[in-house]
Amino acid sequence: MRGSLGRLGTLGIFGILAAAVLALLPGAASAAPKPALRRPPPPISLQTVDHPPADGINFFDNGPRTGSDIALTFDADMTPGMLQQLKSGAVPSWYNRAVVDLLRQEHVPATLFLTGLWAAAYPQEAKNLAADPLFEIGSHTYDHAAFRTPCYGLGRAPDRAAEITQAQAAIAVAAGAQPKLLRFPGDCYDRTDVALARELGLTVISGDVRAGDGFNLSAPNIAQTVVARIQPGSIVVLHLHGGRNAPMTAPALRLVIEAARARGFGFAKVGDLLGLNPAPPAKPDPREILQKLRRPDLRAPVRLSGRLGREGPLLPPRRRVANSWAALFVTWGEWGKLAQPVSSRLNSIHSN
Ligand SMILES: [Zn+2]
Repeated sequence: MRGSLGRLGTLGIFGILAAAVLALLPGAASAAPKPALRRPPPPISLQTVDHPPADGINFFDNGPRTGSDIALTFDADMTPGMLQQLKSGAVPSWYNRAVVDLLRQEHVPATLFLTGLWAAAYPQEAKNLAADPLFEIGSHTYDHAAFRTPCYGLGRAPDRAAEITQAQAAIAVAAGAQPKLLRFPGDCYDRTDVALARELGLTVISGDVRAGDGFNLSAPNIAQTVVARIQPGSIVVLHLHGGRNAPMTAPALRLVIEAARARGFGFAKVGDLLGLNPAPPAKPDPREILQKLRRPDLRAPVRLSGRLGREGPLLPPRRRVANSWAALFVTWGEWGKLAQPVSSRLNSIHSN
């Protein structure tokens, strides 16, 4: 032993030590204080997805990056094949009730994109979800056929408009809701599909964080994917159908909620995140509002449908602030007019 060491010599021993240190380096790096939340996200493969750029008008990947809210969204897929599995008893359920229970328990608002077939298969549940102010109901088309292919092996929709209108009808019948938001199956679509959705009165919602909970057996893995990628305004894509197609969404969701809150994030429905929903009913006394409007110094520069807070350079800052408030009050009964400029501004933020 001593002889062999001697033959190796100082350089040889040094070489072995250096090799050992090099071999340990990756392990040492992964054992360092955890940068899990700041680690750069792995590249998202969009090879099979015909994903168009934002059109800046009626398409959203994410909300404003300036706040602290994110939106959790859950797609309830139901293909004819899935429905057949349900009817035959091959699958006990395509409703991940644990996800909804957890959202309610934690008071986390969410947007649920239902396929028409799912709503028709679960009318009571759909109605129950639509009646809960914690949730917002969107459309995930009628039977989850792809608008563009290839798309994760989904069949192509023969009639794209019917996919949207039949879903609206099925969701209205089952849930009593008329969705305003639409998520395309697999996020596989192009600009003409966005235009079609707009013609039919729907806003296309994609997302900037795909949780990857489909066919994923690791809750920590799903949660880490989400937590590593979320930022203010993020729209997170998860699934509501559970079963073998998305078995670990609920335990992953628990981890996501906890980690997101620890980082200071709040949760909002997509419509609220994007300023698409009407504001809650007015609380201030209308007489008080009228009194404010009678003040001539506030009345003159108010623009009913103009941009808030931009009444011109001639007014001193304090007056401009007062006018912004007055404009808000004036538009109190005209939320349609108010919502338009706000959503336009959000769009311009988004398109930047
Ligand atoms: Zn889907």
